[in-house]
Amino acid sequence: MRKSTRIYLDHAATTPVDPAVFEVMKPYFSENYGNAGSLHSFGQAAITAIDEARSAIAKAIDAEFDEVIFTGGATEANNLALRGALKRKDREPRPKVIVSFVEHESVLDTARDFEREGAEVVYLPVDGSGFVDLVFLKKNLDERTVLVSVMYAQNEIGTIQPVAEIAEILRDFRDGGIYPLFHTDAVQAFQFLDCNVNRLGVDLMTLSAHKIYGPKGAGALYIRNGVKDALAPVLTGGGQEFGFRSGTENVPAIAGFAKAVKLAVSGRVLEGSRLAGLKARFWDGLKEIFPLAERNGGEPSLPNILNVHFPGKSSEELILALDAEGIAVSSGSACGSRVARPSHVLQALGFPPERVKSSIRFSFGRSTSAEDVEKTLAALDGLLRRNN
Ligand code: PMP
Repeated sequence: MRKSTRIYLDHAATTPVDPAVFEVMKPYFSENYGNAGSLHSFGQAAITAIDEARSAIAKAIDAEFDEVIFTGGATEANNLALRGALKRKDREPRPKVIVSFVEHESVLDTARDFEREGAEVVYLPVDGSGFVDLVFLKKNLDERTVLVSVMYAQNEIGTIQPVAEIAEILRDFRDGGIYPLFHTDAVQAFQFLDCNVNRLGVDLMTLSAHKIYGPKGAGALYIRNGVKDALAPVLTGGGQEFGFRSGTENVPAIAGFAKAVKLAVSGRVLEGSRLAGLKARFWDGLKEIFPLAERNGGEPSLPNILNVHFPGKSSEELILALDAEGIAVSSGSACGSRVARPSHVLQALGFPPERVKSSIRFSFGRSTSAEDVEKTLAALDGLLRRNN
């Protein structure tokens, strides 16, 4: 990937489009621009591209061709998973949904909507390291439980949840039925972890292209064939995507997404261990220059995300000061408003407001070099000394 003089350590927020992904996308803007629903050759070229992309992504997650539904990103896929499942239960008096406290806003805000509409939402607590409480989960499962949603890897602290273990608990509870459905948001996990839906034991799984060097505005929801009747579409219209997501398909983005998936899978192990090395070096370096630094979130975690508490320092000031030196980091999730909201994730770990306001997320990626890590440490050394 081409280097710039600026250092980008915010890959969990988004990644640049890989040049190979961009190449794959290009012809679908102004050469093969047909509507995949058209019968003529332009339409044929479009539907062929979508079919190929669907096959490639299905293969990467061990799914069937028709189990991959393209959406306009992960927010939409999460909405389809949750709202789609609840819609099928709208005649029941009080359906119940269980989501973890550390889910992405697209899950949590949707859950809050359900509460307003009269459903019961149970929020799964996490421990001080960020891991969900499985005993609490078991205790709260009942016949009314429509869906359980627990993300695979957390976007602010990188913690990896025991998804396969949760699937096991749900399988035992279901006793042959389909409820509760199990959804996982694997947006951050996909770059580094095996996302085989059968090994994970999930019914629904969310992916996003722009976290894996694909374009923004493209994502997918895996829907296990056996649970398709348990999901209603959220967007209705032309019936694209097997009726689950109407709207003319974004062909360039879908083609690019599939290329990004292939690149992620082929580079997973090597890139994962390279970044784990950089993360370890960065943490060691940080402890040397600022011994009070503490990590937020425990192990296992993704190799690219390190969330650090700098006691007594303002994260906002540090982020702006680093930016002035050409280094981009963030305090956690990037939301639409650009207004820093205190992280619900760090709060869920039980941290007091001072710690939440003094924490920064560093997220590494393909462009990150050992030199970038040293430069960032040097910049932090200067800044942390300066405002001591
Ligand atoms: N889930 C997770 C875990 C995420 O990190 C993000 C992006 N911050 C989303 C969902 C939303 O993805 P998108 O931008 O594709 O809507």
